[in-house]
Amino acid sequence: MTLSVRWWGTRGSIPTPGAETVRYGGNTPCVAVSAGTDTIILDAGTGIRVLGRELVSDEGEAPRRLTVLLSHTHWDHIQGLPFFAPLYRAGNHITILGPRQPGPSIESVIHGQMAPAVFPVPAAALASRLEVSEIDPGEHEIGGFSVRAMTLCHPGATLGYAIAPKSGGPRFSYLTDNELGAAGPDQRRQFVRFLQGSDTLAHDAMYFDAELAGRVGWGHSSAAEAVGLALEAGVRRLVLFHHAPSHDDATLERLLEEAERSRVRHGGSLDVTIAAEGHTLRC
Ligand SMILES: [Zn+2]
Ligand SMILES: [Zn+2]
Repeated sequence: MTLSVRWWGTRGSIPTPGAETVRYGGNTPCVAVSAGTDTIILDAGTGIRVLGRELVSDEGEAPRRLTVLLSHTHWDHIQGLPFFAPLYRAGNHITILGPRQPGPSIESVIHGQMAPAVFPVPAAALASRLEVSEIDPGEHEIGGFSVRAMTLCHPGATLGYAIAPKSGGPRFSYLTDNELGAAGPDQRRQFVRFLQGSDTLAHDAMYFDAELAGRVGWGHSSAAEAVGLALEAGVRRLVLFHHAPSHDDATLERLLEEAERSRVRHGGSLDVTIAAEGHTLRC
């Protein structure tokens, strides 16, 4: 069975609408992974608003069961949720899963985003049935998918996911908000093991190498670092993801060129591309 991966939001940190970002997108992270009739939604940045509109476009359609897997609860990965139209449709059952937090529970973070001080509609007033739970590193079955989760290098609790159809097929891995430069040798080996057998890897590629020095500890990687990991793990294709707000379309194309030069320097075989909002990729 094949997988399709649609990019609804590709931008990191904050939405960047405007003429200079139309090619690769200005919405914050949201990715829909589908196999047959099953879909998992990764992250709930502002891109999830447009996905939600498509999911409820047919007034007469049957209620849906939807799962949203959060990499973490930084604002750019949850800020679209209050605007996700399926939450307001009676009969829908929506499950939000995210990493166990060191501080407040994930449920309180999600509900806090709909507190009266910041949003007019409380979570308790939603017409759908909403469940929010924690997901731990390890193997899981979610709908028609096998999902593996692992801890990433990022401030706060953050998970990366590897997703494949339960019945077998290509594996798509999603490692966003991951600082490869801060990973020790053991964690690096774990990343490589986790990615072995993946067809496509979407990885945090927020910076040029030259930008890294001033951003140590911020929780992100350069495109060239993502290339190094993808080559080491032997994935077929790398998708540069979580674009920096300061990088317009032309800058992102220069970032892709830097990634390509890095691949040539390493000498391996790898297809490198950039996540572009609205586009669908087949694995
Ligand atoms: Zn982020
Ligand atoms: Zn983050």
